Amino acid sequence: MANGAQKVTVRLADIFAARARIAGIARRTPLVPSQALSARTGGEVRLKLETLQDTGAFKVRGAANAVLSLSDAARARGVVTYSTGNHGRAVAYVAQRSGSQATVCVSRQVTQGKIAALEATGCRLRIEGNSQDEAAQLAAQLERDEGLSVIDPINDADVIAGHGTLGLELLEDMAEVDTVVVPVSGGGLISGVALAIKAANPDCRVVGVSMDRGAAMFESQTAGEPVLVEEVTSLADSLQGGILLDNKYSFAMVRDFVDEIVLVDEDQIARAMAHAYWNERLILEGAGATPIAALITADRAKFGERIALVLTGNAVDGAVLADIALRHRHAVAPAAHSRAA
Ligand SMILES: *Cc1c(COP(=O)(O)O)cnc(C)c1O
Repeated sequence: MANGAQKVTVRLADIFAARARIAGIARRTPLVPSQALSARTGGEVRLKLETLQDTGAFKVRGAANAVLSLSDAARARGVVTYSTGNHGRAVAYVAQRSGSQATVCVSRQVTQGKIAALEATGCRLRIEGNSQDEAAQLAAQLERDEGLSVIDPINDADVIAGHGTLGLELLEDMAEVDTVVVPVSGGGLISGVALAIKAANPDCRVVGVSMDRGAAMFESQTAGEPVLVEEVTSLADSLQGGILLDNKYSFAMVRDFVDEIVLVDEDQIARAMAHAYWNERLILEGAGATPIAALITADRAKFGERIALVLTGNAVDGAVLADIALRHRHAVAPAAHSRAA
C-alpha cells in the first residue's frame, strides 16, 4: 500500500465505500440464470458474469478502489505493480482512465503473448530479472526511487475491499442464495466477497475452488499458515502463484469466513469451459470456469437449492478454447434451452 500506511483489517464499511468510489470504472455485472445448470442439478443456478468487465475480469474492481483511494498527488506520480495477468491489465486500465500512469514490472520469463497484451494497455513495462519475486522487488524499488504507489495483487486492503463489491451486488440480486462459489488464488476476491456475504447472511455458504495442483490457499489453510507451493501449469493459469509468506489479510479472512475450498482437476476444468461455450454461450478462461467444474463435480447436496457461481474472467487463447470445445463436444450436459420442439 502507498506511503507505508498498512491497514490492519478490511471492514464491511470499506466495501461500501469502495462501491461508491469505483462506480464510474467497474461495471455492476448481471447475475443471470443458467437454464442448463439449473436443469442438470435440479437447483436454481445463477452466473455472475465478471467477463463483462471492460478488462474481461473482476480485477478492475480492486484495482479501481486502490488507485482511486490514493491522493491526487500520489496518483499523478503514478502506480506500479508486478502482476502479468488480469491484475496487471486492470491496474493499467484504471490508471489510464483516472489520469495516472501505470508501470508493470515483469520478469524475462514472461511469455511474449502476455507482454503484448500488457503493451496494448499503454502501460510502461519494465522487463528485468528472472522471477516474479524479482519483479516484486523492482516494484518496491520504484516506490522508493520514483515515488510510485505499489498496487499489490495480494497484500492490499483496498484491493480486497474493491473485490468485495461483487458480494454486495450478488446479495441484492439473490438475497436468498444458499451457496456462492468463488475461484481462489491469492484469495483477495473470496475474502472480500465472503466478508460482504457473511455480514448480511451468515448461513450462506461461501465455497472456494482451486485447481488440484499448486493450490496455495488450500495448502496454506490445511497447514494452518501460509506455505509455498510448487507452481504447476494449469488451464486455470490465473489461479497459479502463491499467497505470500507474509500474507496480511486473505489467509486470515479465508480461515474466518470461507466454509470450504473444493479442488478440481484439469479434465474437469476443460469440461466446464466446454459446457460454458456450448450450453451457456460464454467464453471463459480456465480459472473463470472452475465454479462450474466444482458444481458439476462436487456433492451438490452440500450446495443447497440456490447457487451463485462467480465466473471471474475470459482471458483465454481462442485456439486453446476451440480445441477444448471440440474435444468435449459430446461430453457436456445437453442445453436445456436448446431449440424447443
Ligand atoms: C485473479 C483471478 C482469480 C483469483 O483471484 P484471487 O483474488 O487471486 O483469489 C480468479 N479468476 C480470475 C480470472 C483471475 O484473474
